[in-house]
Amino acid sequence: MTTEPEADILDFLHNEGITLVGIAAADHLPSVPDEFSPHAVLKGAQSVICYAVPIPKGILYAGHHGEALYWRFCNMAYRSLDIISGRLASYLEEENCVTAPVYGCYPWKVRNREFWGTLPLVYWAEKAGIGTLTKCGLLAAPEFGTRILMGGVITTKRLNPTERIRKELCPPGCVECLRACPVTAISETGKVDHNLCIRHSHENPLLQHLLHDKAEFSFETLVNTVGVDDHGTYLCFECMKACPLNK
Ligand code: SF4
Ligand code: SF4
Repeated sequence: MTTEPEADILDFLHNEGITLVGIAAADHLPSVPDEFSPHAVLKGAQSVICYAVPIPKGILYAGHHGEALYWRFCNMAYRSLDIISGRLASYLEEENCVTAPVYGCYPWKVRNREFWGTLPLVYWAEKAGIGTLTKCGLLAAPEFGTRILMGGVITTKRLNPTERIRKELCPPGCVECLRACPVTAISETGKVDHNLCIRHSHENPLLQHLLHDKAEFSFETLVNTVGVDDHGTYLCFECMKACPLNK
């Protein structure tokens, strides 16, 4: 275990404007279905490099037009993170390894009413010491709370894992995110009903239109069709606004 990732990876990501970086061994995690583990994406996977950018406080707590600012920020930041993941993959492959980008958001798969990314980065980012999982299902970094967006890569290169944060970041008894959620998607146990959350936060007009004809398409197809190119899902962030870790 180490406190800092390899200097060349840090330099590469610093040059891309990213300061929060961690590395986890590409192990299977019991809380994640096999098909979303690093080995399912990349044969011979050894390491997962995770990184994050903060969402400015001025966006989260904006008065008028806060929703539009948040939607636009997520829309643009996820595109940038996906591009950086592709660049990092190519950079690492200069050294005789195979590396796959992990996209920070879409596309999603739906399993038993739960939504999964190709590799759910929050779990490996927690292992890599970027932050700890919170009750609202988001990862909280000590520096920024839950107001972060993430990207990453999976590689066959064996890298030194960075240390996990052992301390729980949610204050004891805090339920601010539960109270703030307009559709009660967050339970006391910290389980989030993705269906409730996503149906509420997707206010994209195209999705509303397609949902009228839902017999023809699965919800997974609809969400990916509407969201994949514009990340148009980010229209609710009440749990993030309410979280004391973000202030
Ligand atoms: S994003 Fe909105 S709907 Fe989803 S869990 Fe947070 S507060 Fe609830
Ligand atoms: S609002 Fe409270 S319980 Fe919810 S994520 Fe933030 S600190 Fe944790």
